[in-house]
Amino acid sequence: MPALAQEGRPLIEITPLQDMERLAQEAQGLTHDAAVSWQAKAELRPGSGAEPDVWLHLQASVLFPLICQRCMGVVTVPLEIDQWYRFVATEAIAMEQDDDSEEDLLVMAPQFDLLAVLEDELLMALPLVPMHDECPVAPVLQAGEDELADEASEKPNPFALLSQLKKNNS
Ligand SMILES: [Zn+2]
Repeated sequence: MPALAQEGRPLIEITPLQDMERLAQEAQGLTHDAAVSWQAKAELRPGSGAEPDVWLHLQASVLFPLICQRCMGVVTVPLEIDQWYRFVATEAIAMEQDDDSEEDLLVMAPQFDLLAVLEDELLMALPLVPMHDECPVAPVLQAGEDELADEASEKPNPFALLSQLKKNNS
């Protein structure tokens, strides 16, 4: 991360959803080309200590297939991440400062896993109750109702039909 910060250039990547196992498990009907577009940019800012703080700006977007809870069809939900983090040296500092910080804190570690952080954010961004704005089933039902209405209007008047039957019986 510090190397990234010194360069000051964003890291722009596209990661296939299949590479994010936990996230992929939540997807309904995952296509092979489903991928997360993301970019990470580090920034040095004056901090409380002698050394500047390392901040990270993470942005990501993905069209994520879920099951609509209204029509039970697949609904593609756009997930967007736009999050700032500040790196701290140790877990202890993170625990200490977390309550007072508006930004999220990350612990600077050699095994720091940016993709895991991104995957966590996307998992948290999943809607609890995914739904279409307008379910595709609704227009179909509408069409069905129209058809029924048309059929009804073409049907003979039931009273006319009744008198027809009476005539035949008599
Ligand atoms: Zn729906």
